Amino acid sequence: MSSMMFAGKVAMVTGGGSGIGRAVCRILAREGARVVAADVNSGAAQETVDMLVNPSNHLAVSMDVAEKVSVSSAIKASVEKFSAPPSLVANAAGITRDNFLLQMDEKSFMDVLDVNVKGSFLVTQLVAGTLVEHGLNEGAIVNLSSIVGKTGNIGQCNYAASKAAVKGLTKTAARELAKMGIRVNCVLPGFTKTPMTATVPDKVIETMLKLIPLHRMADPEEIAEVVAFLLSDKSSYMTGTCIEVTGGLSM
Ligand code: NAD
Repeated sequence: MSSMMFAGKVAMVTGGGSGIGRAVCRILAREGARVVAADVNSGAAQETVDMLVNPSNHLAVSMDVAEKVSVSSAIKASVEKFSAPPSLVANAAGITRDNFLLQMDEKSFMDVLDVNVKGSFLVTQLVAGTLVEHGLNEGAIVNLSSIVGKTGNIGQCNYAASKAAVKGLTKTAARELAKMGIRVNCVLPGFTKTPMTATVPDKVIETMLKLIPLHRMADPEEIAEVVAFLLSDKSSYMTGTCIEVTGGLSM
């Protein structure tokens, strides 16, 4: 028997074209999973797959998580390729549209909710439904929330609200899907070095680093390892949990 953690499993990673999602794809592939890198940026998803050992064992799909039809056709494509639905899912697609509350326009507020909350809901609903249709009584889903969903953050009323909602979604999904053998957990990353944080001004970074006991930002792999743990059988008695991975920020 293979000693690899995810041997024989099909895993879907939304936001698989960048940052934390890409790091999750690499770890899952390293541990034997057949990975579906799903991203609205299909070129970036393909780049991720091309970085993996034996790219033809994996699949890059175009998916807009905020559009039900798009999520559904990406799941269909992965069932066609692997003759099985993904039983492991990391919902890492996410966006920010920052502004102060008094200047926040309605569209920026709703766009963030659409991708971060509705996107995680649609992927969870459609993957879980497909697993049930296939008679598979197993699965693990990990949602990417954020420490900001717990603490709030200046300039991020939309993003913080969306990430708090992801926690509520996770806990509800965990309660409802347990009887189908599907565990649902979430990770609250702190400040992580990815394209999402690349535009944060140096002054803000300096201030943040003073508040973080480990005095540095996370590498995406440090978040992805915790996601992989929650997807693996090593966390078989965990569901509905939210794990903070923040270098000690806001403990
Ligand atoms: P990133 O910007 O590097 O990657 C996000 C990916 O999501 C991109 O490839 C993007 O194309 C994709 N995406 C955006 N909209 C999409 C859509 N509608 N459908 C499908 N894919 C879409 O960001 P990241 O830092 O890797 O963030 C990953 C997750 O972790 C996000 O949910 C983010 O909110 C969360 N997070 C990040 C940090 C951080 O400091 N970087 C902190 C806490 C939480």
